Amino acid sequence: MARYTDAVCKKCRREGTKLFLKGARCNTNKCAIDRRSYAPGQHGKNRVKLSEYGLQLRAKQRAKTYYRVSESQFRKYYEEAFRREGVTSDVLFEQLELRLDNVAYRMGIGNSRAEARQLVGYEMLEVNGKKVNIPSYIVKVGDVIKIRDSKKDNKTIVSVLEANKLKAVPTWLELDKEKMEAKVLRKPVRDDVDLEVQENLIVELYSKN
Ligand code: SF4
Repeated sequence: MARYTDAVCKKCRREGTKLFLKGARCNTNKCAIDRRSYAPGQHGKNRVKLSEYGLQLRAKQRAKTYYRVSESQFRKYYEEAFRREGVTSDVLFEQLELRLDNVAYRMGIGNSRAEARQLVGYEMLEVNGKKVNIPSYIVKVGDVIKIRDSKKDNKTIVSVLEANKLKAVPTWLELDKEKMEAKVLRKPVRDDVDLEVQENLIVELYSKN
């Protein structure tokens, strides 16, 4: 019998939504949130009405966990978004989407963002012909991201590409599956992000701290 005590899945159950942290398993009937759609812990089944602050905090945690970034990184993205022109929450998600580890994940290089981040760290990718191994590297419109020629036969790469060959690619990326390279066509917008979250709550949270 399957066990649903996995620490990673508990994060989804805490947030009450799928955050796609475990790759292929997230789309099977083994997904913990499909089986136990209540928060983990002794009192998980008791619905607690959250305060305004609680709602804001949960929204932030949900987005932060989805992208697997630390609190300090997430706040840095918020502060940058606040400084820049445009709607703060839109710029926040734009930066998170344009991280190299997220782009790799969107390309199918990694079953989860955590795995994509590892593969970036293992020097599997290049951007515009130059090796980049920094997961937080922000790509720009027009950049071309690809698997380095010397890594194309790497067993892990071959296996993740096979596992993700049918994965949908967002429209802001143009992916050439033969060459396994992607070009950034435009900046991603909030509608490109498949995460259920009220982004205004995140902005409200940080704007008073
Ligand atoms: Fe676990 Fe993935 Fe389901 Fe989240 S979406 S509960 S990580 S299997």
